[in-house]
Amino acid sequence: MHVEVRNLDKHFGNFHAVKDVSFGIEKGQLIGLLGPSGGGKTSILRILAGLEQPDSGEILFHGQRVNALAPQERGIGFVFQSYALFKHMTVFDNIAFGLQIKKVPKAKIKERVMELVELTGLKGFEQRYPHQLSGGQRQRVAFARALAPEPQLLLLDEPFAAIDAKIRKELRSWLRDLIERVGITSIFVTHDQDEAIEVADEIMIINQGRLEQKGTPWDIYKEPHTPFVASFIGQSTLVERASDLKGFEKEAEGPGIRAFIRPEYIEVGTEQEFILKSATAPAIVKHLHFRGSEWLVEVEVSGHKLTTFRSLEKETLHAGQEVRVLVHRAYLFNDEKSWIVENP
Ligand code: ATP
Repeated sequence: MHVEVRNLDKHFGNFHAVKDVSFGIEKGQLIGLLGPSGGGKTSILRILAGLEQPDSGEILFHGQRVNALAPQERGIGFVFQSYALFKHMTVFDNIAFGLQIKKVPKAKIKERVMELVELTGLKGFEQRYPHQLSGGQRQRVAFARALAPEPQLLLLDEPFAAIDAKIRKELRSWLRDLIERVGITSIFVTHDQDEAIEVADEIMIINQGRLEQKGTPWDIYKEPHTPFVASFIGQSTLVERASDLKGFEKEAEGPGIRAFIRPEYIEVGTEQEFILKSATAPAIVKHLHFRGSEWLVEVEVSGHKLTTFRSLEKETLHAGQEVRVLVHRAYLFNDEKSWIVENP
């Protein structure tokens, strides 16, 4: 295990910001820390970096405990959203900065900077100053500067948050590619679900100081372990009395059971469209929204409002129409456990 964190805990005054967080990261993995604002993502990153001391818990890099090491002794590179470049220095000097501090010989510095300029697509920009660059280019310089001293671990705190949407999308695949080529273990913080899903090998969902779930984007989407994860990743509707739904009468019967149902796991259609009508429940179409490539259909089933999609090729439904609904899959939770119920 390249990075290992055991039972990390941190208070700021009375506020419990990080609650018993443990995880491991393999070498070369790109991990996304995802969650709502104030959940503790940045605090975890700052503790790893040594910028903040935990109340308790251990941090190990390559099996070595690093709790007592100063930030500059941990072999970490940073890119922060607001990590301003040195304004009075050229791109070349910005990237060279960490190497000059380490007293690396001049010729070696030049070689390394040119290598990074090439790698980050900044060739020809070496003599420019930060104000002569676009936001995306500046952030690429920040990456080159962080990578120059060959850190063991790269920490990225919302590196694209200040960049406009179109460039941000380009930078995502650029980052994926860069990390893959350099092969460096990286952790990045984001509150953007799409960004995490697109970029990360694995995601850690952080909420109210806790690590709710860690896994590949697909695993987390497919099998959320907590109600929070079920509602935060992908779309879903919360159903409080799921035992009212056809096919869930037995499984969802019990105190405090809540179900989350994704639109893509609900099928809506006319009576003729379902071969096995006994598995379906009667429903009324409440609203229809045309989404360009499909219909978004809101239906009422046994007093519950559910949302689903319907293909444009099928007969067009209308509000008030009596239809049938088949719920293929639901995520159920009570205070103790989570389980999945499926209808054929
Ligand atoms: P965001 O996406 O908004 O950056 P986050 O998930 O990164 O959120 P943190 O920045 O880790 O969350 O903050 C977690 C909580 O700890 C917040 O409520 C924050 O106000 C509090 N906090 C963080 N640093 C300090 C500090 N130095 N002193 C007091 N409270 C702090």
